[in-house]
Order: sequence, then C-alpha cells, then structure tokens
Amino acid sequence: MAILVHLPSFMAVPITALLREQAPDITVWNGREAAVPEEVEAIIAWGLKPGVLPAYPKLRLVCAATAGVDKLLAAPDLPQDMPVTRIVDPGQQTGIAHFVLAMALRHTRELGVYAEQRHRGEWKRHRGRALSRCRVGVLGLGEIGSEVARMFAAIGFPVAGWSRSPKHLPGVADFTGDDGLDAMLAQTDILVCTLPLTPQTNGMLDRKTLARLPQGAYFINVGRGEHVVEADLLALIDEGHLAGAALDVFAKEPPAADDPIWTHPRIEATPHIAADPSYELVAQQCIENLRRARDGRPLLNQVDRHAGY
Ligand code: NDP
Repeated sequence: MAILVHLPSFMAVPITALLREQAPDITVWNGREAAVPEEVEAIIAWGLKPGVLPAYPKLRLVCAATAGVDKLLAAPDLPQDMPVTRIVDPGQQTGIAHFVLAMALRHTRELGVYAEQRHRGEWKRHRGRALSRCRVGVLGLGEIGSEVARMFAAIGFPVAGWSRSPKHLPGVADFTGDDGLDAMLAQTDILVCTLPLTPQTNGMLDRKTLARLPQGAYFINVGRGEHVVEADLLALIDEGHLAGAALDVFAKEPPAADDPIWTHPRIEATPHIAADPSYELVAQQCIENLRRARDGRPLLNQVDRHAGY
C-alpha cells in the first residue's frame, strides 16, 4: 500500500513527513522520490498534468489536497469511475470567514478611503453605513459559505445565501435557482462568492449578473477567479455601479504584469491566501480514505463527479 504526494515541494515535504508519522505501515513517496508505480494506490494532488495518472495502474483513489477540486477534475485522463475526495477543514472555513469579514468591514467602515486620505494628509470623517445598507449575499452555502454566512449573521448583518438546494440556516434567507439568484442580487450590498468552479458557475458573474446588484455594492471573491468576467467587473466599478472588489482568486495566478487588477484603486487583491487547509488534516483524511477504499467502506468527503464539486 503506497501513497504518492504529487504536490509542489512547499506542501509535499511537510505532508509527506506527516503521512509517514501518522501511518508508519504505509509507504509514502513524494514527487521527487523514485516511486514503484505498481504500488501506488492513492495520489494526493492539487492538479494533474496529462500523463501522470496512467503511470499508476493500481490507483484506487485521488485525494485533493484542498477544498476545491476544479483543477483535479480537469485532468483529461482522470477515469470517470475514479473516486476523488477533497479536504473539509473547519479551521480553514473559519479562516476564510475571518478573511471575508475583514474585507467586508474594511469596505463598510471606509478604511480604504481613510488610507487614501492619510496619504493626502486629509482629516475628514465619513458617516458610517447603516447595517440595513450592508445586506450580505453569499453565493454557495457549502462548508465555507455557510460559515461565512453564519459569522456575518452573528454580528448583526442581514444575510442571504444562494445554493442549489435550500439550507435553512438560522438568520440566513435562502435563495435557489436563476430567479432566486436575481432576487438575492437585487437586495445585496456585499456579494461574497464561495462557489466551487464547475461548468455551471464558470463565468457566471458577468456584466448582466453583476449589474443586478444595487448601485454601490461591493464584491468579495474567495471562490475561483474564473467565476468572474474580470473586464465586466472592472467596467462596472469604473462606471460607478459597483463600489469596488476584494479579490483573493484570479483566473491566472499570479495575474499578468499588465493586468489592471494590480493598480486599480478600487480593487483589493491578495494572492489566494484566504486560508489554507491544515496539512495534518490533509494527511489524516488521505490515510483514512485509503484504508476505507481498501475495505470497500464509504469515503469521507467524496466529490460528486457528476455535479463537479
Ligand atoms: P462545498 O462543496 O461545500 O459547497 C459548495 C456550495 O456551492 C454548495 O452550497 C452548493 O449548493 C453551491 N453550488 C454549487 N454549484 C452551484 C450552482 N450551480 N448554483 C447554486 N449553488 C451552487 O464547497 P466549499 O464550501 O468547501 O468550497 C467552495 C469553494 O471555495 C471551493 O470549491 C474553492 O473554489 C474555494 N476555496 C477557496 C479558498 C481560498 O483560499 N480562497 C480555499 C478553499 C476553497 P448545494 O449545497 O445545494 O450543493
């Protein structure tokens, strides 16, 4: 029984060490070591280039090292019946919710405006926004989105959420379907995207969709860059329809040197740091799932290959 850790070395080194520590009975190789392909039963990866998977004929499991699986599912030679699991980490969900709250409060309390004023030596006070004008709409009420919604609701923000199925979270208004999306957007001052990237959600935040937000709305993206048509977002900000955006994820990471994102005064850009999963948990969930796969037991956090998340 062997696991191959197919990750960039900054993740591969600690995760390999944790796997060896947690499961001395399992052989673990990282991508730089000479693995015996016929012994590899599980691969931990983030994305997989064509040609990697067919090299391991006994593979029974692909474990994503993250919550998002879009890069893995895009592997052209991933067999349709290959089980794929992902990481569900409550600590990461809390971290992402903290990050989103920080970005939202920076906007609602005008902290960016005060930072600009300070550079000009300007002492000017602004009336804060009433909470009733800080209505939050969360796209995706899964593991991450529901924690984001819960935290906003806990500190008094009016909160709504949009997902495929209604969630009935305390203090969070439910919206589903295309009509539900339009209805939620029309009453959202802070839109937060925590959706997974799927064929249905790719590019869905275009001019038509974002323009349904009220004048002065703010957008926070911790889902994937590909959810957004960046040119449409920037145009709506430049036209004054949207107040700005905080973007943690981009279609191309890092964005190209001439991408206007780098210098746009109404964009906060961070390098995909909202929160990482715990490496201990990555190792633990992979070991547990390999044991389950061998025994024919249900896997933890198995991805619905048909739904794409
Ligand atoms: P989950 O699978 O737990 O939740 C996904 C949510 O999106 C569910 O509520 C689901 O609805 C909803 N959804 C999916 N497709 C649609 C659709 N077509 N229409 C409406 N709702 C839809 O995922 P997580 O919360 O764990 O993660 C979400 C994403 O966050 C990841 O895929 C990844 O892209 C991103 N991420 C970003 C990080 C960062 O550092 N910036 C770190 C980790 C993750 P339903 O519940 O009805 O199925």
